[in-house]
This record gives sequence, C-alpha cells and structure tokens, in this order.
Amino acid sequence: MATFPLPPGSMIGILGGGQLGRMLALAAARLGLGVTILTPEAGAPAAAVSARTIVAPYNDAAALNDMAATCQVITFEFENIPANALDALARMGAALAPGPRALAVAQDRFDEKTFLNGAGAPTVAFAAVDSIDDLRDALQTLGAPLLLKTRRGGYDGKGQVWVSRADDVEVAMAQLGHRPCIAEAPADFRRELAIIAARARDGEIAVYPLTESHHENGILRRTSAPARAAPPVIASVERIAATILSTLDYVGVMGIELFERDDGALLVNEFAPRVHNTGHWTLDGCEVDQFEQHIRAVAGWPLGPTAATHHVEMTNLLGDEANDWEKLAREPETRLWLYGKGEARRGRKMGHVNRLRALDR
Ligand code: AMP
Repeated sequence: MATFPLPPGSMIGILGGGQLGRMLALAAARLGLGVTILTPEAGAPAAAVSARTIVAPYNDAAALNDMAATCQVITFEFENIPANALDALARMGAALAPGPRALAVAQDRFDEKTFLNGAGAPTVAFAAVDSIDDLRDALQTLGAPLLLKTRRGGYDGKGQVWVSRADDVEVAMAQLGHRPCIAEAPADFRRELAIIAARARDGEIAVYPLTESHHENGILRRTSAPARAAPPVIASVERIAATILSTLDYVGVMGIELFERDDGALLVNEFAPRVHNTGHWTLDGCEVDQFEQHIRAVAGWPLGPTAATHHVEMTNLLGDEANDWEKLAREPETRLWLYGKGEARRGRKMGHVNRLRALDR
C-alpha cells in the first residue's frame, strides 16, 4: 500500500493517453514523478512524454494488473473508461484518485443531474427518457423545446438533439439510436461559465478564478479568464464547487460547467472528474496550473496557489488551424501548446493557444 505524500521517483498511473494525459505527464515530470499511461491507441499524445506506455484495452486484466503492481496511485484523463476497469483496479488494491463513484456518476447524465440536485446544486429540469412514450411525457411535463441527450457516451455536443414538437419524437429517438436518454429543459443562459476546483487528500479545497466559455457546435472554442462576475456570483460558484467535491469525497481536479441566466441564477450543466479544457488557460495564467494541481492532489502533496497572474484568452486549435503554428509562434503574447497528434481531422483538438494580457484592475 502506498503512503502519501508520494515521494519524487514514484509512479503515477493514468488511464487514457490523450492531450490531457500528455499535459499531466509533463507536470508530473517537473515534480520528479513518473507516469505510466494505459491507452488502447498506439502513438497516443501522452506516450511521447511518459516514462512508460501500456497499449491495451482499458479492461485488459493483464494490463490492469501491471498498472496496479507498478503505480503507487492511478488516475484517469478520460471519462468513458469502463467502470469495471476501475472496479478491477480497486479489487487489486490500487489507490485510485478520484475514486470510482465520481466517475460512475459523471458517466451518466441522468445520475449526474440527480446527484447534483441531491447535493444542493441546481440544474435545469430534466427527465429520464427510455422510450418514445417517455419523450412524449417529457414534452408534456417539461414543455417544448427540450434537449434530448444520450445518458452515456456523448461528448463535444455529440449525442444530442433538440425536440420541438410531439411530431418529432420518433425521429429524435431514432437519431440517438433509441438509447437511454435524458430530456432537459432549455437553460436559457446569458453565458456559460466554468470553474476548475481541486480537493486534496486531507479535504483542503482550492478553486481557480471563474472562466467564461464559448462553444460552437457543441465544442469548446475559446475561454476568457478570469471572467468578470459580481462577487456574489463568484461566491455561489465556489460554494457549488466545494459542495460537489466534498459530497463525492473527491481527490484531484474537477472541471464544472455552468449556465448563468439573465437574472444571475446559476445552473450546473455537468462536471468532469478530471482536468478540463476550460482550465487550459491556467497553464500560462495561474501560479500553479490545473495539471500540476491534479498531480499534487493525487500524490497527496499540498495544493498549490491558484491565483491568476495574467488574463488569458484560450482558443482551441481545431483540425487544420494548427497548421498556423509558425505564425502563432511569432506572436509574443501567445503561448502555443500542440498535442503531437498526427492527423488533423476536421474538428479534432490539435492544440490550443493562450493569449496573455495584464490582469484587469
Ligand atoms: P454538454 O454535452 O451537456 O456539455 O452540452 C454541450 C453544450 O450544449 C453546452 O455547453 C451548451 O452550450 C449546450 N447545452 C447543453 N445543455 C443545454 C441545455 N439544457 N439548454 C441549452 N443549451 C444546452
């Protein structure tokens, strides 16, 4: 059994090998900690910067055994890890951070919203939809239009469709493959906000400055932080974040996405039990960034300071936008992060830029 804090030289296991794993591995290396990634994909972005890569499916018993035997703590950077992989690791005696419950709750949009409401965090009104009849009922109870989303597996706006009329219900269910769904009332938001928060093994909580986020076609396009917001709004978001983390007895960094309505009311859309795209600005805009913070938390180290040092506009580089790397590298106030992905497929997150300016006073 590992004892915390893990000393330098320890090995941290990460399930998932995408850009989030890559930036976690870079942060771990800076603290003298090693990273082993488990990824089904050969040549994954994190592999190039990790001490060790195991290429195998997430629920491969031999790979999980190897991780449990060689890593002092195991975390994840990807939400759709099969829950049985974490259960198997727990049975093998591995230390997991965050724990399996946070992942299980976040993997199902209905369970997630039910959990949030139970913890006192407000969300839009919602209903479980398992059939065409359920969807008709939801249109009656929640009103039209409503947003139909698959309960599991959706990301970046995939797996969701607006339903405006009773005549649309059959097509909508067919579009989502008749999978178990959740129907949500429209959030009617003025803007979208996000907050990155961390909880340490001893229960200490640290939150980052509020971020304003802008999505296009369901994909995060850019963020601006620290976001301008009235002090009571900031206090409410911080309170919501602390409640979610404490209720889950969470260890690590979490990204929480919210809607702000015209009257200032806040609704939680969802939380990601991992480092998050809305926190990429912290790499160049905060004293300790979200990736180092996550490594600190899971390794049982003290959390670092989260104050902003710069105002940052973060823009994702999607598809061939990353081909502009040379121009971007010439901009003195721009910090360029490229993920080492081979093929620049349309809409694929290839990197991001953080554009810095002095903090607003
Ligand atoms: P999600 O997949 O839940 O993260 O949603 C992706 C994006 O869709 C959000 O960032 C919002 O822009 C939009 N969205 C999600 N849920 C709602 C909702 N209930 N009402 C209005 N827009 C939503």
